[in-house]
Amino acid sequence: MDKHRSADVVITGAGPAGLTAALYCGRAGLVTVIVERVGPGGQAATTAHIENYPGFPGGVMGPELAQRMEEQVRAFGAETVLADVQRVESGDGFDVHTSEGTLSARALIVASGARERPLGVPGEAEFRGRGVSYCATCDGAFYRNRHVVVVGGGDSAVEEALFLTRFASKVTLVHRRDSLRAAKALQDRAFASAKMAFVCNSMVTTVLGREKVEAVGLRNLKTGQEMEYAADGVFVYIGQVPNSEFIRHLVNTDAAGYILTGEDMSTSLPGVFAAGDVRAKYLRQVATAVGDGAVAGVAVERYLAGHP
Ligand code: NAP
Repeated sequence: MDKHRSADVVITGAGPAGLTAALYCGRAGLVTVIVERVGPGGQAATTAHIENYPGFPGGVMGPELAQRMEEQVRAFGAETVLADVQRVESGDGFDVHTSEGTLSARALIVASGARERPLGVPGEAEFRGRGVSYCATCDGAFYRNRHVVVVGGGDSAVEEALFLTRFASKVTLVHRRDSLRAAKALQDRAFASAKMAFVCNSMVTTVLGREKVEAVGLRNLKTGQEMEYAADGVFVYIGQVPNSEFIRHLVNTDAAGYILTGEDMSTSLPGVFAAGDVRAKYLRQVATAVGDGAVAGVAVERYLAGHP
């Protein structure tokens, strides 16, 4: 990338929200640059099977959906730059400082999503990549005929636990309460799976092993009882942290760092819009991210028309 270049709109993040915003901005004839750290699709690209995105009656593989979205965006002229967004400065427009140089833009759409929340227990960081994972789609196949533990009780934990039953001989879901938060349809499938086991009212307190993960330490939160539980892998799905650090000094967020927006995806700073999982919202799914992206794209077009 040139060290300093300009666009009408810079979109941070190429997940479903960012790609949809880019589609709308590109179609509107705006010079649109997406800055993405890893590759298109965001978390959807690391989701094995998406069942609740309309138009795919048998479901769709996350990477395939991401690739289709990206192809469509490219056809409308938006450009993608692979870089890490480090900080945004506001002045006469916006300067987006990235690992690969600075982009100037007249408007900004923050669609940087959210990342996995770590457990924060001893052994977790040490065994990351050696048995501790946050991506069943990426690492599940390494656990053929092995026993894995999945931590969490939300949609992600249950969905990815079910995916892991394709490979693992046994998948134990460890959840801190006695009822799951996940959608009922997912729960029903999990309870019906012969490969799934459930450890409720329990926390993983440590990850243990020599070269690789061999066990987790568990604490029963009702009885206080501690035990070692043998496992070959640990998949952590205990929620998310918003990727908003680079813009938090400019826009209002909630206490957790999710960006507050109006109905038109505008933030507290004129010219900055937010879409998808990074914003404070009721439901974080591909379907809602796509809706946010469409609104943000149109809102930017209207904003720029009013600020020539
Ligand atoms: P989530 O819904 O926030 O669930 C996080 C789970 O982790 C909860 O069960 C929570 O327990 C548990 N947890 C949180 N902190 C913990 C800790 N320190 N130790 C142990 N357990 C902890 O997060 P998510 O499952 O990643 O989902 C994020 C969003 O994406 C949600 O809006 C979800 O609906 C959406 N999503 C949807 C789909 C789908 O529709 N198919 C798939 C994936 C994700 P408690 O229940 O006790 O709070």
